This record gives sequence, structure tokens and C-alpha cells, in this order.
Amino acid sequence: MVNLQGKTALVTGSTSGIGLGIAQSLAQAGANIVLNGFGDVDAALAAIAATGAQAVHHPADMRRPDEIEAMFALAQARFGGVDILVNNAGIQHVSPVEDFPVQKWDDIIAINLSSGFHTTRLALPAMRAANWGRIVNIASVHGLVGSAGKSAYVAAKHGLVGLTKVTALETAATGITCNAICPGFVLTPLVAAQIDAIAQRENISRDAAQARLLSDKQPSGQFVTPEQLGGLVLMLCSPAGEQVRGAAWAMDGGWTAQ
Ligand code: NAD
Repeated sequence: MVNLQGKTALVTGSTSGIGLGIAQSLAQAGANIVLNGFGDVDAALAAIAATGAQAVHHPADMRRPDEIEAMFALAQARFGGVDILVNNAGIQHVSPVEDFPVQKWDDIIAINLSSGFHTTRLALPAMRAANWGRIVNIASVHGLVGSAGKSAYVAAKHGLVGLTKVTALETAATGITCNAICPGFVLTPLVAAQIDAIAQRENISRDAAQARLLSDKQPSGQFVTPEQLGGLVLMLCSPAGEQVRGAAWAMDGGWTAQ
């Protein structure tokens, strides 16, 4: 396993779901962790403490550049900077374009896309000085293909894949890599809300709604897990990941192979 002792990882939106799973994987490899998000902070800090790693939480709202700057100041003060940046915070809203609430569009673009620009611009100077860094953008299969009803999410995730490519090119001759991971369905609070909506709309059980969600899109019929995504992040942080640059790496049970 890769040894990340002495490195610090900042994972946005890491109080639940995929972000927390990735933070746990990085902590198990020895990294200090900066947690962020609005979920159960004490439970997330306890999950990291259980690995023996150091952790701190900052409640930055990823819609707000000033709060993102304050989070980086905390990482600097507590751990001396950020070596590994995982842009994971994200929200979803499902609605046809013509009914899509304008505020929801703005929030999704701000959290799922623009926050990755702000964290990247703040992380790069110190990574360049150290000539080492890892930036992992948690995009989605929706960074590669579309789905009806998800205009803002699909636009933001395609944008994040674009930001990934440009960041990778601008750092190509350095020890810094930038890649996107494109998960299919993972059973987290974000997807549980979609399962509940299907169950209610079609008057079917939660289990039936879950099977419907997967069979529509994900040929494996199984959810991707936060632990599997954490394993891919660790690979990208390892020497084996050094020449993986600007990739949009699907982990989607075959969704985008169709
Ligand atoms: P989740 O709802 O469990 O976690 C989202 C995290 O983001 C939480 O910690 C939440 O508090 C935080 N967050 C929300 N708004 C925020 C804000 N304004 N500022 C700071 N933090 C905020 O969702 P998840 O499924 O774990 O999603 C994590 C990422 O993975 C998202 O970017 C999502 O688009 C992506 N993703 C999820 C799936 C899936 O099937 N669950 C698939 C592909 C990609």
C-alpha cells in the first residue's frame, strides 16, 4: 500500500458518502486529513481518528471563495499545507430544463464545478514549490454522458472534466498530477434521495426502486462503493499513478461502455 505519512489531504464534502470513504482510505495510508462538509462532523472525525491519522474539519461553504480561502489557511496553520486535493463536494437536483430552479442551477455550478477551480488555484503554488501534488476531481459518469433531468449536474461534471484536462496540461512537466474519477451509482445520501423519488413516483418498494435505478444504467447491477473509489485515489497517489495525467477514469459497473 502507498505510504502517505507526512502528507496532508484535503477532501471537500467529506462528512458523508464518497468523500468520507476517500478520506478514510487516505488516512489509512497515513495522511493527515482536512475534512469539510455539513454532515455529522463528530462521526466523520471519529472515523478518521480510528485509523490513527490526524484530522481537522473546516465548515467552508463551497459556494463561497472567501470560506474556501479560510479552509486553506487552516490547513496551512495545522498541517503546513495541502499535498493531496480531492474535489468531491457535490449536490444533485433532478428536473426538466424549463422547470429547473435558477437558484439550484447556480448552486450546482458553484459547488460541483467552480469550487474545484478555487481549491485548485489555491493548492497549486505550494504543490509547485514542493514539485509534488495530487489533484483528484470526483466527477461522475455524468462528466462523460448525459441523463435527462440532470442539466446542471451534467454541465458541471463535464466542466470539471475539462478543468481536469487543463490543470493536467499546465502541470504536465512537474511532479503534480490532476485526474478525474467518474463513478457510476454509489449508494450514498445523494443517490438515496433519487431512489426514494422513484419509489414514490412509481408507487413501488424501495428495493424495487433501487433495482430499477441500477438496471436502467449500470450493467453490473451493483453499486460502486466508497472503498473502491478510495482504492483508486490511493493508486493515483502512488508512484504507479505518476504518468496518469488528465484522465477521466470511469468506475461505473460498465455504464459508459454501452
Ligand atoms: P453526499 O450527499 O453523501 O455527500 C456530499 C458531501 O458534500 C457532504 O459531505 C455534504 O455535506 C457536502 N456538501 C454539500 N453541499 C456543500 C457545500 N455547499 N459546501 C461544502 N460541502 C457541501 O454525496 P455523495 O454521493 O457522496 O457525492 C460526493 C461526490 O460524488 C459528488 O460530487 C457527487 O456528484 C459525486 N458522485 C456521486 C455519485 C453517487 O452515485 N453517489 C456518482 C457519481 C459522482
